[in-house]
Amino acid sequence: MSDKNLPEELLGLLKPRLPQMLATLRRFVTTESPSLEKAAADRCCGVIAEDWRKQGARVERIRQKQRGDLLRITHAPDKSRPSGQLLVLGHYDTVYSTGTLARRPFRVKGGKAYGPGTFDMKAGIVQALFALQALQQTKAPLRKRLVFLWTSDEEIGSEASRKFFEAEARRSDAVFVLEPSFGPQGLLKTARKGVGEAELIVHGRASHAGLAPQEGINAIHELAGQLTRIEKWSDLRRGVTVNAGIIEGGTRTNVIPERARAVLDLRALHVSDMLSLEARLHELRPLQPGARLEVSGGFDRPPLESKMSATLFERARMLANQMNLTLGECTVGGGSDGNFTAALGIPTLDGLGAVGDGAHSSREHILINTMPTRAALLAALLLNV
Ligand SMILES: [Zn+2]
Repeated sequence: MSDKNLPEELLGLLKPRLPQMLATLRRFVTTESPSLEKAAADRCCGVIAEDWRKQGARVERIRQKQRGDLLRITHAPDKSRPSGQLLVLGHYDTVYSTGTLARRPFRVKGGKAYGPGTFDMKAGIVQALFALQALQQTKAPLRKRLVFLWTSDEEIGSEASRKFFEAEARRSDAVFVLEPSFGPQGLLKTARKGVGEAELIVHGRASHAGLAPQEGINAIHELAGQLTRIEKWSDLRRGVTVNAGIIEGGTRTNVIPERARAVLDLRALHVSDMLSLEARLHELRPLQPGARLEVSGGFDRPPLESKMSATLFERARMLANQMNLTLGECTVGGGSDGNFTAALGIPTLDGLGAVGDGAHSSREHILINTMPTRAALLAALLLNV
């Protein structure tokens, strides 16, 4: 079979596997895996490991103290020495605590599979598993070593897993992130905003609002003035937003408040904007004499800039065309672990996972007919990058 028809061949292998894919998804989803419940997450880790082991892959379980264990799965070319490495990255933890499944059981209805964690992102792990199966069936030679890394704390900031997937990404030529795609067309996420959080505390001086107003320094007025300034830093066209999401301060109306505090959500599409936002925050100076500002925090996840995914997306689009599929792309405001790998300078393509909707909600579901196609697209990429 010629190279040109490879994606079609992979799709042909995967389409009849849909019932097995759904059965696997059911197993993964019915083993709940909240990020914050290690025992439950570990059980799910075991279930996922078992399926990958059955597939003949080499599975390592990386023990974690606080969070669920990580799974590192490797698959190398049979005969030749690998000429590099590709990393497929995802997480099996969900935002739902144990017991959610009892209220919202896994169910398939009207071409959709519902359940906590279906879309974000257990179906992505299923698709990767069947992509590997198709790779083992096709005669097309695999050139690179494949590493699949399934983490357990993405939904809570990836603090424990970050060093593992960053080390793996550094050894890789490209990273494919199986986070959900966007919208019913399954758009890939070729740019993601960097995300951060900062706290601004104003220290003023308390005084009686009626008897000694001249002795007070109103921390709330100062904070309001600062926020009016900060608000102007948002630039929607450039993808920069600052959102004061929490504000507090004061005690009584007749007391000039000595303390006020705001917590800001920070987002930026470009690294340069991220750096200048952080610098501007720390350069803030009080508007009222005697007031004092305390600024802390900053960006947790740097932006995934579109230049880090452009070449991979072009390849994906071309391969999808060979399956008679039009593949689109989009920019999203939320971060993923792809933000970290792109920031290391490793080409990263995100949103390769399930097609569906309702992540982190009771409507969460995937479109089941897209599973073989997405698996075929991933398999084709793993053979062609
Ligand atoms: Zn996710």
